[in-house]
Amino acid sequence: MRVTPQESLSQATYNEFMQRIYLDANATTPVLPKVIEAMYPFWSDSFGNPSSAHQSGQRTRSAVEHARASVAALLTCTPKEIVFTSGGTEGNNLALSGILQPFLDRKEQAHLITSRIEHHAVLYAAEALERRGVEVTYVAPTRDGVIDPATVEAALKPHTKLVSIMLANNETGAIQPIGDIARIAEQHHVLLHTDAVQGAGKVLLDLSGELTNVNLLTISGHKMYAPQGTGVLFVRKGVTLAPLFYGGPHERQRRAGTENVPGIVALGKAADLANTWLCTVNTANLVTSAVSTEVHPHESVVSTEHASSLHPEQAPDARSRRISVFAEASAKRERVNFESASSNPRTLQVLRDRLEQGLLATIPNAYINACQVPRVPNTTNIRFSGVDAEALLIALDLHGIAASFGAACMSGATEPSHVLLAMGLTPMEARSSLRLSLTRFTTPAEIDRVLEIIPTAVARLRSLA
Ligand code: PLP
Repeated sequence: MRVTPQESLSQATYNEFMQRIYLDANATTPVLPKVIEAMYPFWSDSFGNPSSAHQSGQRTRSAVEHARASVAALLTCTPKEIVFTSGGTEGNNLALSGILQPFLDRKEQAHLITSRIEHHAVLYAAEALERRGVEVTYVAPTRDGVIDPATVEAALKPHTKLVSIMLANNETGAIQPIGDIARIAEQHHVLLHTDAVQGAGKVLLDLSGELTNVNLLTISGHKMYAPQGTGVLFVRKGVTLAPLFYGGPHERQRRAGTENVPGIVALGKAADLANTWLCTVNTANLVTSAVSTEVHPHESVVSTEHASSLHPEQAPDARSRRISVFAEASAKRERVNFESASSNPRTLQVLRDRLEQGLLATIPNAYINACQVPRVPNTTNIRFSGVDAEALLIALDLHGIAASFGAACMSGATEPSHVLLAMGLTPMEARSSLRLSLTRFTTPAEIDRVLEIIPTAVARLRSLA
């Protein structure tokens, strides 16, 4: 029998359950209403295959290219260097296999340098390549979860073909010195790939500036307020890749398969919004404007460039009525979730820091993992000595707070984070560490509520130990 939350919990707990506080943005983010509005027409009115020569096809082609330009603007690269994928896992696999498989095919020696703090989408791809004959070095991080460029330099071999080091760690948020590592790789004529899934939309990524020596870079849509199953691999001009899939000549022969047009349009819109948010410096009077979600009935027609320019054959009335209903529905949701966006990365960081300081001030024997290094503004990884973080996670979930701990393994059980273990934490310490990752829409009131709940939950778990 299916038990609804209302049946299994007291009314008070149920009420709390209904007011959930989502602090697991590094796992996934909600799709922004403006993003949904932008993608919506491409499931229905504009459904053409972008490879088709007729007008329907050409309209979706134009939307795909528009999105490509938006993502290129976010990364400061050219649109031709953008390859749309199904997400971060595919992007990472395409980068690693795409660069290294040709050496295996030619029976040439190939060496890959990666790190022990990478996401499994890189680690397991590296292990698969290892089984196929690639030599792999997994460099260790410092105690603060950072890969020292000197460690990478020391691991280089004459036959090193690729270095793959992530831009920001998903567990700790630690930002890696990718610009420096890429410069070293460049000096040794080695290609550099970075998994920037946890960096995109949180920090500026300048592939024409600091990251100019990066050759390949992965991003994922669902970590930046676009849908799951969307992503991009940046492939710098001049770098050739063996494809993962064989089929049509899509994405300039780099990724076969009919494009996921609604997903691509969504990612383009999310990139525009991220760009605005990242570039907003004045915190005054901009609290909601960067990702403003208020939709008034009289202006609830599709506000995106794509939709307004791509449906010339439709009567504006019919179009706007349909979108209007949809936009109003999203607006209702927005009032709950999306009203008070942090106006920029700095204000988000202030909120994160307030959370950390509040927890450290009220909970004895609590420690921030990777606190000495630059981190993305939304992430904290905090250790409560003597507390099983999995039990804490469940307690918080019952109080309506979504957080994260470790990684699910094959059996479905939760394993301590390999990242924290690589940083030198003991298994017990790693098991007492919780990740809290804020969204752009986390409010000060939510942080206050979390600061009431976590200390009580930690004290209770400690008293039971
Ligand atoms: N890389 C990092 C750093 C991640 O955090 C994730 C997802 O959590 C991925 C790659 C995989 O991305 P996707 O879920 O889009 O396949």
